Amino acid sequence: MIASKLINFASNKLKQNKILSHKLDSELLLSKVLKKKREELLTNLSQKINKKKILSFNKLILRRSLKEPLAYIIKEKEFWSKMFEVDKNTLIPRPETELMVEQILKIYKNKKIFILDIGTGTGCILISLLSELKSSYGLGIDISKKALYLAKKNAIKHLVNNKISFLKRSFKDLYNCKFDLIVSNPPYITSNEMRSLDDDIKKYEPKIALDGGNDGLDVIKKVIYKAKYILKFDGRLALEIGNEQFKKVSKLLLKNNFKIELNIKDYKDNTRSIISRLIR
Ligand code: GLN
Repeated sequence: MIASKLINFASNKLKQNKILSHKLDSELLLSKVLKKKREELLTNLSQKINKKKILSFNKLILRRSLKEPLAYIIKEKEFWSKMFEVDKNTLIPRPETELMVEQILKIYKNKKIFILDIGTGTGCILISLLSELKSSYGLGIDISKKALYLAKKNAIKHLVNNKISFLKRSFKDLYNCKFDLIVSNPPYITSNEMRSLDDDIKKYEPKIALDGGNDGLDVIKKVIYKAKYILKFDGRLALEIGNEQFKKVSKLLLKNNFKIELNIKDYKDNTRSIISRLIR
């Protein structure tokens, strides 16, 4: 069968399963099977695909039709123009988080700082920051050993492994160190929202990376409280937060001696991240 026909079949199947990006996903999955870039596939849509490849492709399409996120099937996701290896042990990097990275880079351009990333996951935030802040260095922590394994691989891939240490540790157990900047995209989804998430997320992404408890603020509260003790004087805390959490989180920040410097809105105009500064 030729590629274009195969893509059409697959795309229809995904469409029947209510997958909005059915065409794109089919193209990307076929590219994956052919070990080619999507652009290359699209310029050669009349190529014949052999039986073995069709079989592998159909398996991937089946997984996608069951709502498994594309990133988990192809094992990678682009973030800050870099490809990050992902698997079911890590959250899939989101474009909203890039907006926080962008603002942090503006603040610290050409500076030499020490960064802590709480809940590093794939390492996407810290690795992106350190690949631009050439003389800075960082510590990425996570309670998931499997996530850390992936983060390390990503750091090596993006040539920043000599500037990052990864540690299996909760932020609660960090002592005797002081950072210029703490970044975190903590779990912030409320228990109610958890129930109504799309199947793609609910069935596949790690619950511990998403679930922020009743009001979604369980981890955020503790991070803010702890940050006071492990930030240098004038240090900054950059936090990603959930919808409708801005008021509560800004109150918490003020109560804990932080001054809000920047609210970063996402593509839907929700405040998605807050950059604040510790005042003493
Ligand atoms: N820091 C990672 C990210 O932003 C993981 C965050 C998490 O697991 N909550 O994608």
